[in-house]
Amino acid sequence: MLGRSCADNILRHVDAAGRELCLDGCPLEAVVQDGRMHEAQVYLHHKLGHRVPVHVRATALRDPAGHIQGAVETFRPAFEKINVLHELQKLRKEVLRDPLTGVGNRRYAEMCLQECEKNAKEHGVPYGVLMVDIDHFKAVNDTWGHGVGDKVLRMVAAVLDGSVRGLDAACRWGGEEFVVLCRNTSTDGLRAVAERLRMLVEKSWLDHQGKQIAVTVSIGGAISRPGETAEAVVDRADQQLYRSKNEGRNRVSLEG
Ligand code: GH3
Ligand code: MG
Ligand code: MG
Repeated sequence: MLGRSCADNILRHVDAAGRELCLDGCPLEAVVQDGRMHEAQVYLHHKLGHRVPVHVRATALRDPAGHIQGAVETFRPAFEKINVLHELQKLRKEVLRDPLTGVGNRRYAEMCLQECEKNAKEHGVPYGVLMVDIDHFKAVNDTWGHGVGDKVLRMVAAVLDGSVRGLDAACRWGGEEFVVLCRNTSTDGLRAVAERLRMLVEKSWLDHQGKQIAVTVSIGGAISRPGETAEAVVDRADQQLYRSKNEGRNRVSLEG
């Protein structure tokens, strides 16, 4: 476009009646003539050949004395149908996201678990499940209030989410409990991930009224066995989590 004039019919936009606006009904020309804002729904020529629906708005540019010096024309996509699709995509994401922490929610975790179960059944690929529960979280709420409790939940979620590998998922299971799914891993691999998560939570803190608020987590883990349902793996990880709690918290327990 640079160095050329749109009056050379470069835009080749037509209105709904098929009128070529550059030849008959240019909004810029109308603005320069009457100084008012002009809007139109037009169809632009796309370089791939098809027509793109566009909303055009033309307004006058004036000097300090109010004389028209020129005009500016802005174009914005008018994809009403496609916007609905975008909204659906956004909603789909929202349905799977925990609103407080931004990580995957319980429903998302269950979907991932189903997928892991299927993958294990069909391709023999084992997966690991870590149940992560914040220690003495009730005391955080009781001492600092629910708002700070929420911030601590966000902090822990961000630590977990930021320290798992690309294919792994950290999700909020409920309350102050999270689940981390590790695909294609071994007991040693899972233990290493769990230990890293435990350590990173312990070494994170929230600054609040001149104090540092930190929490620890207890973790229980299990690796899927051939033929086992995902629900059964979660149950075994949960039993290990209770072991971590009973043995003093801020620790990782795995079977074997
Ligand atoms: P333990 O070490 O045995 O896990 O002790 P705990 O205090 O963490 O466990 P408990 O189950 O007694 O308390 C969990 C608390 O988590 C109670 C509940 O109010 C709080 N909680 C659950 N969901 C939320 C939330 O969304 N925001 C806040 N601020 N607190 C929450
Ligand atoms: Mg807890
Ligand atoms: Mg709990």
